Amino acid sequence: MEICLFFLLHFRRHDLLESGEICSHTLPNPHSHICLDDSLEWASPLPSILPSLPRNLLHETTICRREARPAFPRWVFVLLCRLSYPQPRSLDQKRLDVLTLTPWLAPIVWEGTFNSELLDSAYKPLNLTIGVTAFAIGKYTMFVGRFVESAEKLFMKGYRVNYYIFTNDPQVIPRVQLQPGRSLSIVPIKKYSHWQEISMRRMEAINRHIAEVSHREVNYLFCLDIDMVFHNPWGVETLGEMVAAIHPGYYNVPRSQFPYERRSSSAAFIPDSQGDFYYAGAVFGGLLKQVYEFTRACHMTILADKANGIMAAWQEESHLNKRFFSHKPSKLLSPEYVWDDTKPKPPEVRLIRFSTVNKDYKEIRD
Ligand code: UDP
Ligand code: MN
Repeated sequence: MEICLFFLLHFRRHDLLESGEICSHTLPNPHSHICLDDSLEWASPLPSILPSLPRNLLHETTICRREARPAFPRWVFVLLCRLSYPQPRSLDQKRLDVLTLTPWLAPIVWEGTFNSELLDSAYKPLNLTIGVTAFAIGKYTMFVGRFVESAEKLFMKGYRVNYYIFTNDPQVIPRVQLQPGRSLSIVPIKKYSHWQEISMRRMEAINRHIAEVSHREVNYLFCLDIDMVFHNPWGVETLGEMVAAIHPGYYNVPRSQFPYERRSSSAAFIPDSQGDFYYAGAVFGGLLKQVYEFTRACHMTILADKANGIMAAWQEESHLNKRFFSHKPSKLLSPEYVWDDTKPKPPEVRLIRFSTVNKDYKEIRD
C-alpha cells in the first residue's frame, strides 16, 4: 500500500512566511489545495518554509514547477508526498517478548507494534474529536494542572480534544493554555463523603454526561484518573470500539492471583479459575456509544451490590473487570499506558506513556 498526498500550493508569500500552522493543518489532508503566488525563488527553499512537515514525508518529496492558469499566480508548485514505511512482513513478528493479540483477536498495543505516521495519515482526515473525562473532587483538584499540561504536550497531539473535568470546586481548577482546537469544560458535581463512593460514582456521572452533553461533542471518549501524568506520546493507536488497559501490577501474574471480587454474592464476582487480564480502573475508553453502554452496565452492577450491602474489593475497578470479562474489549492497551511510578521499569515496557503521581493517601483522601 502506498499513500500519496498531492498539494497545489497557492498561498501568498506572506502567508507562507507565517504559515507554520496553516501548513501543519493543511498538509496531512489529501484534499488540500494550496497555491503559491511567487516565482522560482520558492522552488528550492520550499521545504524549509514548511517547518512542521514531518521529515520522513519530505525525503520522498519531489517539487515540480508548472505554468499556472492565467487566473492563478505565475507559478504553481505541486508537492508530491509519498509516505514510505517498511513493508509489513507476514513471517515477521515485531515483538516476540510480549503478547500482542488476545485469544479473541483484540490487538494489545505495545511500543514497536504500530506506525504512528501511517495511523495519523488514516485518522487525520476523519477530523475526529476525542473526549477525556477526569474527576477532581476534594483535594484531587491539586492534580489537574499537571494532568492537563502534560496532556497538552503528549495526548492526541494534533487532534481535537475536549477535556471534561468533573469537580465539586470549579473555582480552584487552574486555567491551562490549550493548543488550538482543544477545549476544557468544567462539569460541576457533588462530593460524596467517602473516597470509595467518589471513585465508584464516576460510572454514573460519565454515563449521564454522555447522554446529556458529550454525545454531541466527541467521537471517542477516554475516562482517566486525574492523579496521573503523561510522559510519552499517546495517539490514535489507542482508538477502538471499547478499550481496556492492562494493570501494571498484574500483567505477569496467574489469574487466580488477580484481585477480582471473589465473593459470589457480588455482581462483580469472578471465580479463581476464570478471567483474562486484570484491567486498571484508571483508564478505559472507546466509541461514545460503547462507553455509554459500558458505564451504564457498571453503574447498574454497582447499584445491585449496594442494594445487597456489598462493596466490591476494588470498587468500580472490580465491576469494570467483570464487565470486560463478559464483554471483551476490542483493543487492549499495554501497561505503557497506565504505569505506576513506584515500580521499576522492566525491559518489556520500552516507554512509559502515562503514569501515577505518587500521593500520600492519608493526606488527600477524606
Ligand atoms: N477521586 C477524586 N477525589 C477523591 C477520590 C478519588 O477526585 O477524593 C477521583 C480521582 O479522579 C482519582 C480517581 O477518583 O484519580 C480514583 O481514585 P484514586 O486515584 O485515589 O485511586 P487509585 O488510583 O489510587 O486506586
Ligand atoms: Mn489513581
